[in-house]
Parts: sequence; C-alpha cells; structure tokens
Amino acid sequence: MTAQKFVYSFGDGKSEGDASMKNLLGGKGANLAEMSKMGLPVPPGFTITTEFCDFYYKNDKKFPDALRKEVAVALVKIEEKIGAKFGDEKNPLLFSVRSGARASMPGMMDTVLNLGLNDKTVLGLAEKSGNKRFAYDSYRRFIQMYSNVVLGFDHHNFEVILDEKKHEFGASADTDLTAENLEEIVVLFKAEVKKELNREFPQDVNEQLWGAVEAVFASWMNDRAIIYRQLNDIPASWGTAVNVQSMVFGNMGDTSATGVAFTRNPSTGEKELYGEYLINAQGEDVVAGIRTPQSITISGKEQLASNLPAMEETMPDVFLQLVEIYKKLENHYRDMQDIEFTVQNKKLWMLQTRNGKRTAQAAVKIAVDMVNEKLIDKKDALKRIDPASLDQLLHPTLDPKAKVQVIAKGLPASPGAASGIVVFSSAEAERRAENGDKVILVRIETSPEDIKGMHVSQGILTARGGMTSHAAVVARGMGTPCVSGAGGLLVDHVNHFFTANGTKVKEGETITINGSTGDVILGLVPTLKPNLSDDFQTIMKWADEVRVLKVRTNAETPLDCQTARDFGCEGIGLCRTEHMFFSEDRIISVREMILAETLEGRKKALAKLLPMQRADFVEIFKIMAGLPVTIRLLDPPLHEFLPHKDSEISEVAKAVGVDVSYVKHRIGQLHEQNPMLGHRGCRLGISYPEIYEMQARAIFEAASIVKKETGKDVLLEIMVPLVATKKELQILKSLIVATEKSVEQETGAKLNYMVGTMIELPRAALLADQIAEEAEFFSFGTNDLTQTTFGLSRDDSASFLGHYQKAGILEKDPFAELDQEGVGALIKIAVEKGRATRKDIKLGICGEHGGNPASIEFCHKAGLNYVSCSPYRVPIARLAAARAGL
Ligand code: ADP
Ligand code: MG
Ligand code: MG
Repeated sequence: MTAQKFVYSFGDGKSEGDASMKNLLGGKGANLAEMSKMGLPVPPGFTITTEFCDFYYKNDKKFPDALRKEVAVALVKIEEKIGAKFGDEKNPLLFSVRSGARASMPGMMDTVLNLGLNDKTVLGLAEKSGNKRFAYDSYRRFIQMYSNVVLGFDHHNFEVILDEKKHEFGASADTDLTAENLEEIVVLFKAEVKKELNREFPQDVNEQLWGAVEAVFASWMNDRAIIYRQLNDIPASWGTAVNVQSMVFGNMGDTSATGVAFTRNPSTGEKELYGEYLINAQGEDVVAGIRTPQSITISGKEQLASNLPAMEETMPDVFLQLVEIYKKLENHYRDMQDIEFTVQNKKLWMLQTRNGKRTAQAAVKIAVDMVNEKLIDKKDALKRIDPASLDQLLHPTLDPKAKVQVIAKGLPASPGAASGIVVFSSAEAERRAENGDKVILVRIETSPEDIKGMHVSQGILTARGGMTSHAAVVARGMGTPCVSGAGGLLVDHVNHFFTANGTKVKEGETITINGSTGDVILGLVPTLKPNLSDDFQTIMKWADEVRVLKVRTNAETPLDCQTARDFGCEGIGLCRTEHMFFSEDRIISVREMILAETLEGRKKALAKLLPMQRADFVEIFKIMAGLPVTIRLLDPPLHEFLPHKDSEISEVAKAVGVDVSYVKHRIGQLHEQNPMLGHRGCRLGISYPEIYEMQARAIFEAASIVKKETGKDVLLEIMVPLVATKKELQILKSLIVATEKSVEQETGAKLNYMVGTMIELPRAALLADQIAEEAEFFSFGTNDLTQTTFGLSRDDSASFLGHYQKAGILEKDPFAELDQEGVGALIKIAVEKGRATRKDIKLGICGEHGGNPASIEFCHKAGLNYVSCSPYRVPIARLAAARAGL
C-alpha cells in the first residue's frame, strides 16, 4: 500500500478538490468541491476517490487501515465544522452517502440519507431540534433507504406498512403523519427487517457508514451499471467515487423544502429557471412521484396550468437566494446547470450541480444564446452540440391536418412524435424490436432497469412522473419522444392493456405519442418534414465557417435531392443509377434488356431506357444547380432485376415476346452462388459495354440540355464501381470519353466532366497509385470495402455480429461505424498512393459511414475532400465535419 491519498474533504469555502478532478472524485464530488470553493453553501463532507474503487476491486474488496484512518480524520473535520458528533446520543451528526461516477450513471447505488440514526441518536435529534416529528420522519426514512439499498430488502414491504398506517391514522399524505405515528412506524419497520432478514437493524453508526460505503462500491458491478457502461462505452476501470456528506434537512417543517432545477429549460432551451420543489420533504421525494411536485417559478406554474403555489410565492426569500446562486453557477461553469438543493429553515443549501442534459432543440438554442451573452465563443458552441443528437430535430412532426383521436394527455417530456405498437415491459420491447417492430413502451413509471427497453423503443409513455422523472430525463438524453405523467392512463401491465378515459388499448395495438405536446393518440398519424429554427441555421452557419470537409449527399430521386439541398448539401456524392430502374414503367424494359440474346436485342431495349434516364438526370441536374454530381454506373448483379414470381415471369415473357420456359432458362443462367462477388459493378460494363454506353449518353445528353436551358455548367463526375485493376478503368474510361465526344459533336455543348472510380476492393486500395493514372477522383465505397476487407457479408452478418460484439471481438458494428484500424488503413494507403500519382485527385466517401460522426472525424484526419451521406444526415455531417477540425 502506497501513501496514496484516497480521501478529499470539502465544505465551508475550502476543498481539497475542484471541478477539474472529475476523473478522480467523480462528477458529483468534483462539483461539490468546486461549489464549496466558490463560496456557495455546501454541507461539508468528503469524497473517497474512484482510484480507491479500482484499488478495492484489485485487492479482494477490502478496506485497508490507511483508508479507515483518512476517513476518521475527514470525519473529525466535519464534526468540528458542524459542532456535532457522529453517533453522539445528545448531538448526533448525520450523513448522506452518495455514489458518483465520472459521468452521471443510472444503475449506481441510490443515496442513503440520515445515516447515523439509531434508537438513541434519534432521541438526541428530537431533543436538540425540538422537533420530534422531524426526528422520527428522518429515522423511518433512514431505515427504509438503508434496508433497501444496503441490506437488499424490498422497499415494497415498507410501503405496504406505511400505506396501512396512513389509512389507519387518517393521513392522506406522508406529511400528515404525527411524531407519534412515525414513532410507531419506526417500530414496525424495524420488526419487518428483523422478520425478513433475521437480524436487527444495525445500531452501530460505524457499521452503518462502512456498510453504505461498501454498497456503493458493490453497485459499480451490478447488472444495471454494467449494462449502462456497455451501452455508453464506459470502461469498468473508471470506478465510482463515494461522497459522504453532512445532512441538511428539508423535512423540518413548512420553512424547509427540497428541490431540483435546471438553470434553463431543458426541453426548449428558453432562458428561464425551470424546476420543481416540495415543502417539508427530503431527497428524491420530488422525483419519486409520492406527492405532486410544485413549480419553482410562477411562470413555470402557469405553463403547467398547476394550481399549487410556486416557491417564488411560498418562499420568496429563498427563491432570491436560489436565483443569485444559479446565475453564479451559470457564469462559472458557462453552461446550463442541473442543480439539486435543500432548504432547511429558510436557508438554501446546494447539494449538486452538473451540466444539464438537454434536448437537441435546447442544446442549439442554449449554445446560440450563450454566444450572444458572451459566455462562450462560436467554437465552444459547436463543441456543445452532439451532432448525432440533431437527428431529433430532423425528425418528422405530426401532420397538423391529420384527424387525430387524442385519448389522453400527459407532460411534453421529450419532444418529437412517434408511432408504434404498445408494449408494457422492457423485455417485450426488446423482443418485438428485435423482430423489426416499432414499439411504444408504456409504463406506470420507468426505472433504471428499463434502460434497455427504452433504448429500443420509438417512444415512451408513462402514467406517472413529472418533467424530471426518470422516464423524462432518460428519454431526453436518448432523444426519444416521451410523454410522462399521463394522468388519465390506467395501466394494467399484468393483463397487458391500458385504459385512457374510457378507451381500452391492448398490447400490440398502435398508438402515437407527441412528446412536444403531451398528446397520446390512437392509431398511426402521418408526419411532416420538420421546420428548422433560426438558431439551428445559425449553428449550421458557424459550422460551415470552420469546416474544411465538404458535405454531399447520396440521392437519386428529385425529392431526396431537394431535401438534401434544403439541408445544405454541397453536391451529390453518390447517385445510384440502378435505383432508377426499378419503377414499374421501366423494369419491363430492363428485363427485356437482360433477357435479350443478342447485342441487337439489348440495344433495342436500352434505346427505350435512354430517354427515361436522361429525363431523370435533367431533373436532378436542375435541382443541384451547378453543384458537383457524382453518378455511379450500373452496379448490382443483373439477376436482381429479374422476376421471381410466376405471374411476373409470364408477364415479362409476354412483353418481350418469348416463352415462359425461356425466361426461366435465362434466370437459371444468370444465377450466381455468390452474387456480391460475382458479375456486378464494372464487370457488367466490361461484358456489356452497351449498357454503360447508354448510361453515359443519357448523362451527357442531360447535361447538355440543362446547360443550354440554364446557361450553367453541370459538374459531372462519372463513377465506375468495383474496379480492381487499372485495365478495367482504362477500357471503360475510353468508352465514356468516346461517348462524350459524340454527344459534344451532336449537340455542340462543351461539357465539364471527370471520370473516376470507387475504391471498394482491397486490391484497388493497395494499387491506388496505378488506378489514379486513369481515375480523376476516388470515392471510398466503405460499405463494400468493409465487406471485402473483413470478408464479411453485409447481408448475412447480422446473425453473428451481435455475438461478436458481446464477446468483445468487435467493439462496434463495422458497417455502422468505420473500422478505422483495418478499413481505415486501406483508405490511408489509397489516399497516399492516389495523391502520389495525381496530386490534386479528388477524394470522398460515399458509404453509409459518411453520416456517422466518428467516421467523419476519421475522413477529416485522412485528408478527404468530402463526405457523402443520406439527405437527413447532411446537417449532422456538417456539424461533425466542423467539430473534427476544432
Ligand atoms: P442522485 O445521484 O441519484 O442524484 P444524490 O446523491 O444526488 O443522488 O442524492 C439524491 C438526493 O438526496 C439529493 O438530490 C438530495 O435531495 C438528497 N441529499 C443528498 N445528500 C444530501 C445531504 N447531505 N443533505 C440533504 N439531502 C441530501
Ligand atoms: Mg437517484
Ligand atoms: Mg443528485
């Protein structure tokens, strides 16, 4: 054992730690130390470090003497500050024991309050405070929490007793119970512990303390915590800290209270204090839904149409203290804070602060506002917004013209609209989601055990809980729409249905929730494209100012092209021509082409397709108005276009004028064992040059038409897929060049074009220097490149990739997030070799990864010129590209 320091004290304007020590002290401990240093009222306490947690697990889970000594010293310091003694029968000091990891983490041990009470100290507390009711209320809470959290005793047992007694004493709320009632309840609680656990409730305060500390460390390895760490990429070695803090009491009567608040509205970002409090209450009463919490501000009360008085009204002096402190905190942390506080006899005490979780909408507004308030600069603003979270803003909203049947109303806990089938448990949510169903998780209220189910749900609906309930906070963090506290909802999760004001909805039926209004609607409701706020546009503008990577889109329909332009794309990085072949009026001609036995026959069919493709391109080029457009020539294996059903086969046979048996024979001929590695990509162009020739002609003719009409050049980039050798590209490039020449001769238009290739085979990456002799640009097709690098079929990998991730072989699905090590190595080689041959070769990425923030960062570092992604991800890519450069 080294002389390592494991215990850090805080309180009374002094602290051994500060906010920069989050890794060591955990988020809660570091901020308690910081607040204390700032001179804010923080009850004194100490933090046992995360390093000790790691040490503890590596050393047989024992508490060494050195730690016990450090704790004893820290304890005495607190006793001196407060003027009370831990375990003293006349003047007892009480503690809260609180867990606190680096990042706030559901699944960790719940806080134990009022630790240090026993049959003797409770008398001292009653005597000293002159408030017996308060003393016994604290004791019954302590027994309840300690038994549940440390002794592993189901709290349900206590609730049953409490409810029975409340009934018997005619008390409608906890606060109606008298000192004598509570004293009796304490006796019953202790008897219940004895009955269930076959031991007395611990009376030794040191045993209580170390029991609680041990429970915090143990909770680091519980299932909930482990799952949460897996979902959020948190290593187990980080450990949790334990905070032991002297108690302040919100349950001392009508001049005491407990509360939580955000310094700005966490849903909308509006600059207003936003929170809830309860008079004569303690700890998490506010979020537990035992009593209805009251709004802190009058405006908050009005927003919720509540008739319960606001703190601004009931405790105006305390409210002013709170306003002063929250402003100090915002200026100090330069970010929106999520705070927890307690009022003891009109004096405000701060118990926690941290950067508040917020919706994407709020993140955008707060970032822009704070730049305008000169709290942060533009770059800080960009760093404050998680690109992936913008997805929430780009989500469709409900079509206001749709006729809807609202069956219940709750709180607008997390914005956005979602439809799905009703499920009543997280397990069922996971099961159905795995089958590809969209689900809405309906619960009385959620708890940390529901995290996984919440994760896979489209939306969350709860019957109980406020804006700061577990469901609301977690849903906002996940960006999942949520309606909480829908009072009219009666959930029967045993029999799998709920009723809402007379309407019965069974598991499996579809509902829609609107997390922006709190509406619960029967059935599926059509949605509309979202309207983006001015603040959003401002952030995008700031992102564009610092961004080096260009952002293009993968699109081939006019609608997608227009959407992507509206979202600020700077060109098309991938236009997949085969997608244009599938519509009903074209597939027949495509099939005719494939079935033709002779070149003549194929050309006849291609001649029918040419004007259709040309018309498509004209439309796209007009929308893209002078921005670069990369068009990929035909890529998939031909048999993908062939008919499968008998009815389709006979239809094709008739249209083409051949026998059904011939069609079947041709389908057989085209069958491949492994089409992904078969006759596809440029291999088609090599065997059937007339197909690529037709496509090239359609592209060039369209460009000349648009140039004539608009007077603007179309920046064409014609892309040949699946090239493995320079020779392939050489042959096809000369075909494309020749086609352009003849179109130029026919139309007289001078066209602006480049010919390039996709890099999607390892051979092409490795020999990129040779390929660059022909290619004027490379576009990394990272879907196929991932597939061919791993030798892993995209279509078949789902069945075992999950297993690979669980076993820790692969951390991420490499089709979702670029494998920077392996696939990335090939990209780096190709970039280097490509540039060695052709200094100014244009480089981009057009795989699915082009919209993934981590992959975008890689592209930036690898020196690509642009990323290309699906239209709805364009804003995400713009922000991610900007952040990559910061
Ligand atoms: P969580 O991590 O779940 O937020 P906390 O450790 O913050 O748990 O504790 C929850 C609540 O318990 C706090 O918001 C506060 O109301 C109460 N609490 C914690 N420590 C104290 C204390 N020293 N005095 C009074 N109340 C406390
Ligand atoms: Mg908690
Ligand atoms: Mg807290």
